[in-house]
Amino acid sequence: MSVVFFNGPVQNGDFTFADRPGKAVGIRIAEALNTVLSTPPVPHLWNTTTLAGDLRHRELGAREAVDRQALEARLIAAKYPPGDAPSGGMLTDTDPEVSALALEMTGRLLADGVLTIAPVPVRLCARCGHMTGAGPHPCRSCGHTVTRAHTGRHLFADRDPAQPVLTREDFHGRAPAHLMDIAGNAPERLILSRTRDHGIDLTPLGLDGLVLDPRAALHIAVLAAARRHGADVAAMTTTLGAAAHIAAHGRHFARHDGTRLVYAVHGRVPYDDTTHLAKLYRVHRVDPEIRDLFANWFLPLCSLREKAGVQAAQLAGLLKFLRRATLARTAVPQDTSLEQARQAVRAGDMRWLMDARVLPHVIPPTPTLEGGANG
Ligand SMILES: [Zn+2]
Repeated sequence: MSVVFFNGPVQNGDFTFADRPGKAVGIRIAEALNTVLSTPPVPHLWNTTTLAGDLRHRELGAREAVDRQALEARLIAAKYPPGDAPSGGMLTDTDPEVSALALEMTGRLLADGVLTIAPVPVRLCARCGHMTGAGPHPCRSCGHTVTRAHTGRHLFADRDPAQPVLTREDFHGRAPAHLMDIAGNAPERLILSRTRDHGIDLTPLGLDGLVLDPRAALHIAVLAAARRHGADVAAMTTTLGAAAHIAAHGRHFARHDGTRLVYAVHGRVPYDDTTHLAKLYRVHRVDPEIRDLFANWFLPLCSLREKAGVQAAQLAGLLKFLRRATLARTAVPQDTSLEQARQAVRAGDMRWLMDARVLPHVIPPTPTLEGGANG
């Protein structure tokens, strides 16, 4: 059974990896673990179906004619340092490959009666027609405060509240019980079509002007990438919060043709505590190679072990541990240790990371990590 790691698609927001290294943690975990398994580089995955993206495009469109897909691609490319594009390429949640798979999966789920298209009462903004939530809050698309009731055809899934949304099988490694509880609170009817300017167009299903909910599309993007790599299990990196937000909507889009998507939950890395990190590097006279390895390889992997997040108080100890391990490296890594780490990675067990006998044989010989983020 082959396990391939993919990053949970990153929202194409307003940041660069140099400014916000935390945004790259999922990408780096996937890269590091795929390298341990000798898997060829996978694409970096991006989420472009966002309301913020709609607003940004409209604002820009008022001044210059700009194609949305091209704009998203340009903004994604600008997040990487010049000349440092990912070797496995990139894939967004609206690429033709993802759209085609989404329509194929949706068609099959409709035929199986798992999904339904039927008139559903929703609330629309009285000015722009954007689908708003049930509450009396202003339209997030145009700011208008009045909504109106409307019954329109939508794609939806009704779930049996007695059935859990997530089970242990949906996780790579330890399943956070707390997350399974939160996901279980999702509404019984999940509407999967949305009003957005950009996304997987549901016109072929007779839902003109609607796109597939991005929370479903994210899962499909991972499966599309997994298909390229012939993976049996696609382990998608995600934080607890992100997983809780997307899991229910993604439930029916987490397996396809023998490939299964599971969540590899990680915590946060305290990169924002830059003074702490900078002081640590200075006091311990850490050379740039070790800094890079620590910030871009070791800490992301630590965050997969520490699902509640790596704490700033742990940084000094972790740095010391990594430096010792680098000194214990041998010219040729020990096969048995590497194989031990591989088996653990496939099984979702991260204890090898803090095993002083194993770690020296798994550390990449030269850090050739993408993104250039060094905290
Ligand atoms: Zn509106």
